[in-house]
Amino acid sequence: MLSIEQLSQMVQAHLGLTNNANEAQYTTKWIIKESPLGGRGIFATEDIASGEVLFVDHPLISGPRSGALIRRGCTVCSKLNTNKLFKCHKCSLLLCSESCKNSSVHDDDCGIISGWHSKVPIEEVDAALLSRALTAVRALLLNEEQKRFMTSLQAHILPQHGTEVKELQQYFEIPEGDVQLMILASCVLDANAFQIATSYGKEEMGKRGLYPVSSLMNHNCVPNTRYSYNSDLQMIVKAVKPIQAGCEMFTCYTGLLWGTPARRIHLYKTKHFLCKCERCADPTERGTFLAALKCFSAECPGSLLPIEPLKSSSSWRCFECGLRVPCDNICTLQSALGSLIGSLDFGNLVELENFYLCRVTKYIPKTNQIVIDLQCRLIWELGEIENHRWHDEQIEFMKTVYAILKINSFRIPTDDREKTIPLRGLFPLAAFLNHNCVPNTRNVFKEDDTMEVYASRDIERGEEIFTCYTNFLWCTPVRRYQFRSIDLLTWGQRRKTHGRTSSSGGFAYLNQLSEYRLALKEQLCRDTLRTVAALGAGDAHLRGLLLYHLHAALAERARRCPDLYDELKSEIESTIDQAYKILQGDISAPPDLELRHRYLGPGCDKPQEERFFILDTSENLAVSMK
Ligand SMILES: [Zn+2]
Ligand SMILES: [Zn+2]
Ligand SMILES: [Zn+2]
Ligand SMILES: [Zn+2]
Ligand SMILES: [Zn+2]
Repeated sequence: MLSIEQLSQMVQAHLGLTNNANEAQYTTKWIIKESPLGGRGIFATEDIASGEVLFVDHPLISGPRSGALIRRGCTVCSKLNTNKLFKCHKCSLLLCSESCKNSSVHDDDCGIISGWHSKVPIEEVDAALLSRALTAVRALLLNEEQKRFMTSLQAHILPQHGTEVKELQQYFEIPEGDVQLMILASCVLDANAFQIATSYGKEEMGKRGLYPVSSLMNHNCVPNTRYSYNSDLQMIVKAVKPIQAGCEMFTCYTGLLWGTPARRIHLYKTKHFLCKCERCADPTERGTFLAALKCFSAECPGSLLPIEPLKSSSSWRCFECGLRVPCDNICTLQSALGSLIGSLDFGNLVELENFYLCRVTKYIPKTNQIVIDLQCRLIWELGEIENHRWHDEQIEFMKTVYAILKINSFRIPTDDREKTIPLRGLFPLAAFLNHNCVPNTRNVFKEDDTMEVYASRDIERGEEIFTCYTNFLWCTPVRRYQFRSIDLLTWGQRRKTHGRTSSSGGFAYLNQLSEYRLALKEQLCRDTLRTVAALGAGDAHLRGLLLYHLHAALAERARRCPDLYDELKSEIESTIDQAYKILQGDISAPPDLELRHRYLGPGCDKPQEERFFILDTSENLAVSMK
């Protein structure tokens, strides 16, 4: 076990703070010392302002995550492009390209693995298992000093850790010393590794990294720091709120918006401790009621919460009527809710939206983490995902369809006594017929939705065949008017009332929903921001994302309705400004963050139209900026 002194020296060396202190981008305002929570922790030595960089950590080792369910990609660049992946013929690691194969990263990996004697032909080695164990394998590349640093970190020495390394021995004869070091690396990784965020919108194999300085920070359910990654895999750790001299600096190993029982179970299962922080001890979690369930008594509007949240077997009690419910009943309800949520198709926005709006709050209070989680999913997707972008491609398609229908479709007569709404149909061959107010054909609509076109008088060879787009008994002004009278709304309604809507509905229907969804997105952002603020989470990463999405919704509203600009201007500017301050430099940040900040943030003196012009083209610009 290293002394605090030795550990501090290693940390300084690791962060590169010893040699070129004057060139450092930040000065350390913290030290490592014994924590009242047990073990070591990082403590502020001076007052630290919100947003200040505390340190920039880099991984001792990094690589694929070890979970059996993680999709496996290239072991060098993490790409998931499954058709192109192949196994290295020397070591059996998955690769995507010749350049990844020839990279120094693969050279190192390959050198170790191909150095082991394989018990089976190399192509029979399980590439997925190799990928799961690879991060631990890379510990063999560390120098002695780095190994000492790694082994000084907390490790989970339990049989369930390091199984992927043990399984590797089915395929390879590995020197005992290497096996021991890799198992230890696995145990250290499981206790300390951080999942590395991927670039915005990119699908990559999940990676983790052992960031030794960050891993010295203890956990708190309301952390006072946040971290982000840059493209060099560096982790930048910043204060999310002012930290006073002498205070401990905390990170958070769970979801910020999970309720207390969920957080504590997760921490116990993955990190083997039960959190006793201030938030965990407060049944209401600072008034956010994230874990609350509906009172079991039908008449009561109250919420159930654990009486003693630090005891996992605590009974729950209704805050309104005092009804007590034993822990077992709560667990049954929670697992029922779990399977209800598990049955949802998270890829289906419409289903999520319906569930959120109509069903979920029948079972659980609006404050419950499940509702909040749905809220966040909807926020991330509304306006952003395929088919639900601000400028819906479906709408564009519908417009085209409408334009075609407007010119080409025929009104299908219906029996007036049934008072049905008129139908129309696109008959593609008949649509080639030009219009004449005295046509030489007539149309007969049949029961089976076909249209028969008869000659209404003798037609000579070479004569053009005409139809009449209006009622030919009408006088000219009426006929003209009729061409303009069909509007989008009518069309949408007709289609809908007849149950013939495609899944996306008519154009007008979608358009209405879009406006509505825009308002929904704004509302969801505001609600969730309130919860984050109530927790005292400061400028957490999540707050940055929520502000970005709130900004996007407000800006879209102003773009659609320029009259609202003056009213919305200051909030459009302040939300993107705050989001930018929190998310800048983060590889997982939305790619148009910078551009939006420049054009729609405070201090942009361009005229209104020009500022909003970027919303139409921001996607293209963001791509070309790369
Ligand atoms: Zn690759
Ligand atoms: Zn290889
Ligand atoms: Zn463990
Ligand atoms: Zn806690
Ligand atoms: Zn009650």
